[in-house]
Amino acid sequence: MHSDFDLVVIGGGSGGLAGAFRAAEHGARVALLEPGPLGGTCVNAGCVPKKAMWLAAEVAGKLGFAARLGFPAQDCALDWPTFIAHRQRYIANIHASYQQRLEKAGIALLPLRGRLTGPDTVECEDGVRLQARRLLLATGGQPVRPDMPGAELAATSDDFFHWTAAPARVALVGGGYIAVELAGVLQALGSAVEVFVRGQRLVDSFDAQLTAQLAEDYRQAGIRIHFGCSVEALEQAGSGLRVIAPGADEAPFDEVLLATGRRPDTGTLGLEAAGVKTDKRGHIVVDERHDTNVDGIHAVGDVTADLPLTPVAIAAARRLMDRLYGNRDRPLDADNIATVVFSHPPMGKVGLTEAAARDKHGDAVHVLTAGFRPMLHALVDSPQRSLFKLVCVGAERRVVGIHLLGEAADEILQGFAVALKRGITLDDLHDTVAIHPTSAEEVVLMR
Ligand code: NDP
Repeated sequence: MHSDFDLVVIGGGSGGLAGAFRAAEHGARVALLEPGPLGGTCVNAGCVPKKAMWLAAEVAGKLGFAARLGFPAQDCALDWPTFIAHRQRYIANIHASYQQRLEKAGIALLPLRGRLTGPDTVECEDGVRLQARRLLLATGGQPVRPDMPGAELAATSDDFFHWTAAPARVALVGGGYIAVELAGVLQALGSAVEVFVRGQRLVDSFDAQLTAQLAEDYRQAGIRIHFGCSVEALEQAGSGLRVIAPGADEAPFDEVLLATGRRPDTGTLGLEAAGVKTDKRGHIVVDERHDTNVDGIHAVGDVTADLPLTPVAIAAARRLMDRLYGNRDRPLDADNIATVVFSHPPMGKVGLTEAAARDKHGDAVHVLTAGFRPMLHALVDSPQRSLFKLVCVGAERRVVGIHLLGEAADEILQGFAVALKRGITLDDLHDTVAIHPTSAEEVVLMR
């Protein structure tokens, strides 16, 4: 049987949905294949439930300060089932909103897995074949389990979102975004947390000075980080798991969570049948306009080697559809994309780290830093420090990097990211009157 569409999108996550909606806005007849819940990783096992857990952890942190500030002491332990009900209601609303928008846009949603059988044909798992002038591949990624004995016994971030209580003792393997974020959440919600990092620092795409400060903040909060420590194996020990690694205790952990990166989800896509090229890590190869090597087949999001961030997938998909159906060609600028790690406190960056700037611009680099205690932490005498950093270049001191670690960094960064993209100089920041008293003012006061 034949169904004819202008565009068939495989994958209903952030990139696939954004592409489908934008193409339909331009008048294309669109079918979207998604066998799972709408919204993909971001909505169901990533950004959204993670941010909810992060907010719970922030509230727990503030409640921990309350008694010290004079509020009557209270039990701060989170009742996970109550909180999870709120979290999942929020997510159910997103699903319902997507569903309504798809119906309104006239997009055919097929709750099925699809496989390429040629350059313009997708076979659904029920045998139906769809033919389309164009295909958009947006199947995202999956957590990687390292190749070590016992890896299959551990949880991944997908499993974390099924937990209904804080494990008493938990080990995280990895030092990237997910390990750092979940370590902070779990510690704030009552777990004893240890992190096993094979390198010497946390999230190594961020500025080294900030990640060192974050590691110190985590240490002060009670998280034990083992740097330069490769986990060799995991062993079942009663109902728990023992981590076999240099320096690790004999005592088993209630949970071990692997946060060792993600890989593109292309296993059942049938890329070979259509002749679509992948790189050595399995990502679909695309050019800056998100065309693959096969005419009419495009890809966006974590299935490609783009930065694996939801807003990147959305921006790429919209620009692609604007070009294909809206006669507007504006490739995504991959430089200066702001990103935040939802640690405690959060850490954000846009532009070049100090090290990258020195590699590129040598002695022309000028760095300013501000280390301070945000007012709430000063009031309760908490040791948590903020560290803000500007990386400037040349005689005109153009700002090429902004790095923020500290309370509200996640909310502050976006506006400064616009400014950096517009090419501001340090004088522009100094010419801006501060908002007092805030953490954000430190960015315009740094000298
Ligand atoms: P990351 O790439 O951020 O970090 C992976 C970590 O695992 C690194 O520390 C890496 O070490 C380590 N690692 C890899 N393989 C092994 C191994 N075999 N043994 C021990 N350690 C290992 O991946 P994540 O899984 O944390 O997150 C995936 C991506 O998802 C992120 O890169 C990010 O783009 C995105 N994300 C974004 C978030 C946000 O925007 N806030 C939140 C969560 C995820 P090494 O450096 O030595 O290779």
